[in-house]
Amino acid sequence: MPHDDHDHPHALLPPDPALRVRALETLLTRKGLIDPAALDAIVDTYENRIGPRNGAAVVARAWCDPGFRAALLADATAAVTDMGFFGRQGEHVVAVENTPEVHNMVVCTLCSCYPWPLLGVPPAWYKSDAYRARAVREPRKVLAEFGVTLPEGTAVRVWDSTAEVRYLVLPMRPPGTEGLDQEALAGLVSRDSMIGTAVVQGPAPAPGAAA
Ligand code: FE
Repeated sequence: MPHDDHDHPHALLPPDPALRVRALETLLTRKGLIDPAALDAIVDTYENRIGPRNGAAVVARAWCDPGFRAALLADATAAVTDMGFFGRQGEHVVAVENTPEVHNMVVCTLCSCYPWPLLGVPPAWYKSDAYRARAVREPRKVLAEFGVTLPEGTAVRVWDSTAEVRYLVLPMRPPGTEGLDQEALAGLVSRDSMIGTAVVQGPAPAPGAAA
């Protein structure tokens, strides 16, 4: 199946390059040639900032621009490529929109397929055996563990990624954000909300309010 693409980051075995990188890092650190804190900052940037910020820009634009939203839902690959977000692990992207009726959640049951150009490097839990098995079997329970409780009437739809199709969840725009511009909206959009394991919270000062 598409999963045996050799470019594709499988989580099943410890990859040799990772071990070599770790050994090299240890050696260079011991010799005082690199600062591990600086390395951590670089990794953090790629894992937590650059990647998901791209996806958040896409989501915020879709919230503000109905034409772009329609284009994104019709052909996400073209829409995000137009914004400059393309590359490896992002060749074919499908956007799935959350509504009051349907909440979308993404998993890769076989390994760790993920839209890298939009979300960066997948988090460890996304690659875990537990998430990959349980997201399909008991999605509501998994969501509850992520702190997401959906209304009874909201169905959960789970999308299984492959090396050929990566999914981006278009979360619902939270209430109370009418006055925010696109950039401020993007700032509200978390990585997990684009995987479907979180919902986007409004900027309201009452964090417990479901609104
Ligand atoms: Fe995969």
